[in-house]
Amino acid sequence: MNGKTLCVIGGGASGMAAATEAARYAKNHKLDIKIVIFEKLPKVGKKILATGNGRCNILNSEPAKDKFFGNRKVINSVLDKYTVESNVEFFMSLGLYLTHEADGRLYPLSLQASSVLDALRFELERLNVEIICDTPVTSISRKGNGFLLNDEIYADSVIIAGGGKSSSVHGSDGSAFNLLSSMGIRIKPTFPALTAVKLKNKDGSLKGVRAHGEIMIVENGKVVASDSGEIQYTEYGISGIPVMNISRHVAEHFQLHKKGKIIAAINTLPDFLPEEIFSYIVTRSKSNPELLCENLLSGLMPKKLGISKLRAAGIAPESTVGTLTKNHIAVLTEVINSQLFEISGTLGFDNSQVTAGGADTSFFNPSTLECEKINGLFACGEVLDVDAVCGGYNLTWAWSSGRCAGYNAIKNLSEKTDA
Ligand SMILES: Cc1cc2nc3c(=O)[nH]c(=O)nc-3n(C[C@H](O)[C@H](O)[C@H](O)COP(=O)(O)OP(=O)(O)OC[C@H]3O[C@@H](n4cnc5c(N)ncnc54)[C@H](O)[C@@H]3O)c2cc1C
Repeated sequence: MNGKTLCVIGGGASGMAAATEAARYAKNHKLDIKIVIFEKLPKVGKKILATGNGRCNILNSEPAKDKFFGNRKVINSVLDKYTVESNVEFFMSLGLYLTHEADGRLYPLSLQASSVLDALRFELERLNVEIICDTPVTSISRKGNGFLLNDEIYADSVIIAGGGKSSSVHGSDGSAFNLLSSMGIRIKPTFPALTAVKLKNKDGSLKGVRAHGEIMIVENGKVVASDSGEIQYTEYGISGIPVMNISRHVAEHFQLHKKGKIIAAINTLPDFLPEEIFSYIVTRSKSNPELLCENLLSGLMPKKLGISKLRAAGIAPESTVGTLTKNHIAVLTEVINSQLFEISGTLGFDNSQVTAGGADTSFFNPSTLECEKINGLFACGEVLDVDAVCGGYNLTWAWSSGRCAGYNAIKNLSEKTDA
């Protein structure tokens, strides 16, 4: 009996993956090491239930490392070891089968996020991991070779898995950054990512319209990001996957750079060349000059969006297409191809899916995620300065980094015990 304790702070995706990996190792090696998860909310895994619109986009089978932002050395080291295949196996070993959807997105076969949470919970129960809910960890300090949590709980080793500060209703309120910072770990400036974007010159009548398009972010005259897919028009501006994917650059501008203008250029017909759009309109105006302009673009895009484009081009929707001049058509083509909107901000942390920035990964060993200067202290998941675009990549990071920290924390403890 050595009676050592490994504490995991945060019962989210990365914390549960870390505790599972650690507890499996402990069981296989017959180690007498207690593993405890401290969770501030009444239940673990609340955020997992909200992921993928309740279906949980758990992984992506096309693991492109360029989908991640952060320190390449750390990202590559963790993802090379804890690959998509090994994560699929990990979930299969929990009895959870996955299914493929578009763009390599993987979901639980049940298409229910609750299946993912259940699989993890049941395994933690089987492995006798103690889960202590309603217990926020508010302080951490060094005590001997271990740590003291909340000034009273002793831990030989600690994994900080408290997430970032996105969607605080799901528990992640930034307190994990404070814990790491109190241990001398630098916290890089944080900003919301995967969120919606607010536009100054938006068209309120478009609320609820969804249409394919390309969005380009131009910061002080330079294109800094672009993506395409379904753009959702809202009362405040725009949302949808391509918007969420570029939102990180918008938030970074408002949070860090704060200088100059940031513009969204939206191409409503990215699969058409401008000259093709121009000649389409010319042909339509010749073949049916009596047609009301409000119907001119309805073969190409949702009617409301077409009317919005006409208005932005200074064309009255109730006029007839035969009255359009070449100049009208040129301006309309330009508006369809690249309408410019000044961006006024993002919807912020509470409406974001992930936090960019966070604990500086250069303070951690890339192979183990142990703090280089503090033996026994590990971190994983979103609290680290790693984030990714939509598609299951953020959970990929949570599972892979959690498993990495869990495995190395328990191995480290067992080696100390053996010595
Ligand atoms: C609405 C929504 C949908 C999403 N959908 C997807 C998706 O489909 N696919 C995908 O890949 N990613 C998705 N994400 C992102 C993904 O959920 C996160 O990146 C991931 O959950 C991060 O895992 P984590 O364990 O690091 O942090 P979290 O999941 O945030 O877990 C942190 C846990 O720690 C607890 N905690 C925090 N501080 C303390 C403390 N001081 N003491 C004790 N406990 C503490 C919190 O209550 C929480 O339970 C989504 C996010 C949101 C908000």
